[in-house]
Amino acid sequence: MKVIENLLQLQELEMGPTTEAPESRRLVETLRKGIPEQILGHYDRLRARGKKGVALVRHGVCNGCQMKLASGPYAALIRDDDIAMCDTCGRYLLRAPEAAPAPEAPPAPAPEAKKPAPRKRRSKTAADAPA
Ligand SMILES: [Zn+2]
Repeated sequence: MKVIENLLQLQELEMGPTTEAPESRRLVETLRKGIPEQILGHYDRLRARGKKGVALVRHGVCNGCQMKLASGPYAALIRDDDIAMCDTCGRYLLRAPEAAPAPEAPPAPAPEAKKPAPRKRRSKTAADAPA
């Protein structure tokens, strides 16, 4: 959900060390404008209590409270068509990028293009002639 991605970005900015930088403030303002008031309100309430408003989900587990998500919120998260919220801690949920699977072995170097079988017959040239 794009909104939640923005919310996470907002959270990182607001909790980050550079909140006071003018660029950060501008970005915070821009992000806040793009997030529906209701969502922002809930986020702000969580933040006011010193909590994060957005939690990442890995393998179906909310990293805000370390609880396995109920099937409802998890389904919403996977479908990505609705805003998912953790039943346990009330945080907005965002799918963490799954750990990339072990990189596959690089493809074996392509075998050299098959050359036509060498011809047995050597063409005689003048250079081969005995001096
Ligand atoms: Zn949670």
